[in-house]
Amino acid sequence: MTERSFSEIEYNYKKICENIALAAQSVGKTADDITFLAATKTVDPEYINHAISLGLRYIGENRVQELLSKYDDYDLEHASLQFIGHLQSNKVRQIVGKVDLIQSVDSVKLASEISRCSSKLGITSDILVEVNIGREENKSGVLPEQLDELLSELSEIPDIRVRGLMAIPPICEFAQENRKFFDNMRNIFLDIRSKNIDNISMDILSMGMSDDYQEAIKCGANMIRVGSALFGARNYNI
Ligand SMILES: *Cc1c(COP(=O)(O)O)cnc(C)c1O
Repeated sequence: MTERSFSEIEYNYKKICENIALAAQSVGKTADDITFLAATKTVDPEYINHAISLGLRYIGENRVQELLSKYDDYDLEHASLQFIGHLQSNKVRQIVGKVDLIQSVDSVKLASEISRCSSKLGITSDILVEVNIGREENKSGVLPEQLDELLSELSEIPDIRVRGLMAIPPICEFAQENRKFFDNMRNIFLDIRSKNIDNISMDILSMGMSDDYQEAIKCGANMIRVGSALFGARNYNI
């Protein structure tokens, strides 16, 4: 733990909040309309809690093992913990009840397991459906044309509640290049919302990361997931 890291996190946190406000204003929204979630993989809880002390209210992990090993150390009195990574069905029971939102559901199988574990605990679990908007092979997420069918199946499953959509567009060299994916996501999101499907609410559109969160907000994201811009570069890729 170094003082320098703490002050860098503080500087970055304020900068990101300013950028969120500017991007939100440019589309007639305010910073309050945007949920700033910090992606905390590889980050020590002491740094995460420092960001929480500055006002951060949402954190997301993308590996079950890492989440469990850090779980007792997060300041969850002041922040909501979410799961944002690829999730295998056999690990679901380890996180249901511990996280407030699972952002990465892309199959009936996974949703059914979340439902089963939630029922056991007597809770309802909030989920987002992950969309593979760049149609990338080997990437999680449902393809856009499969979304309607998946949602209609999910709407029948008890003890889960679909709250919106999440996407991780392809890695682009310039934030601008992601615009088409973000625009596409917003259109899909609004289209589904207008259908008012039973048990499916479309309030959350989670997209945008360190390099493109301002672009994402301008395209309609109301939740962004930012890691390296807040905590510094990681030494491996997601
Ligand atoms: C790591 C991660 C992010 C944040 O990535 P950065 O480029 O570091 O901001 C966002 N979403 C998911 C699912 C992640 O795993």
